[in-house]
Amino acid sequence: RQPIIAIDGPAGAGKSTVAHQVAAKLKLVYLDTGAMYRAITWLVLQHGIKVDDECAIAELVSHYCIELTPSEDPLYSLTIMINGNNLNEEIRSVEVTSNVSAVASHKSVRQALVKQQQTWGQKGGLVAEGRDIGTHVFPDAEVKIFLNASIEERARRRQQDFQRQGEPEVSLEQLEKQIAERDWKDSNREVSPLQKANNAIEINTDGLTVSQVTAIIIQKYQH
Ligand code: C5P
Repeated sequence: RQPIIAIDGPAGAGKSTVAHQVAAKLKLVYLDTGAMYRAITWLVLQHGIKVDDECAIAELVSHYCIELTPSEDPLYSLTIMINGNNLNEEIRSVEVTSNVSAVASHKSVRQALVKQQQTWGQKGGLVAEGRDIGTHVFPDAEVKIFLNASIEERARRRQQDFQRQGEPEVSLEQLEKQIAERDWKDSNREVSPLQKANNAIEINTDGLTVSQVTAIIIQKYQH
């Protein structure tokens, strides 16, 4: 199979932006696994199901067709579709973001999604981004990266994202609190928590541009 690049790290470390660029430059497929957990969370909230009700969530998931569909625009990436609907916008809402860690902590949810991710990984040629890619989803990935940044920097980036998207202003203090809380939940769950793989290369992205981080990863890939 073709090589796989696994990119893990905490919320707001710049994984999506960097993974996008790396995939575009190397002409690999980009897989955003966080979007999959977000899509399930959106579905759970739509149905008014409690985020800690694993049985009801497992039942709900079994009734829906959650697909990864290849799209060529703007790059060859996998879009998450539920029953044929693209939920790209909905899954980025504040409500989904604040509930996703709880939904992602359920074993049955993870099993279903990891299976799909691994099916896509069989052929390789993937840049997969998430929390457990290097440790659990693709433990044999050729390149493993753990992206990190200070909490202050991550909050600043989130604030800039919000501004770009025309969302209401949230204070840096508030954002730091939300990010730290999500990281804590993601790092302390029982099933495949957020963790740096033993053989992952850690990059602290404070003060580095997206192009610089991309270049470091591409260099690791080529050597
Ligand atoms: O990367 P993103 O912020 O979109 O991820 C949303 C959430 O999905 C994370 O906070 C985490 O709870 C969950 N997630 C996960 N495992 C992954 C990717 C994301 O548990 N591989």
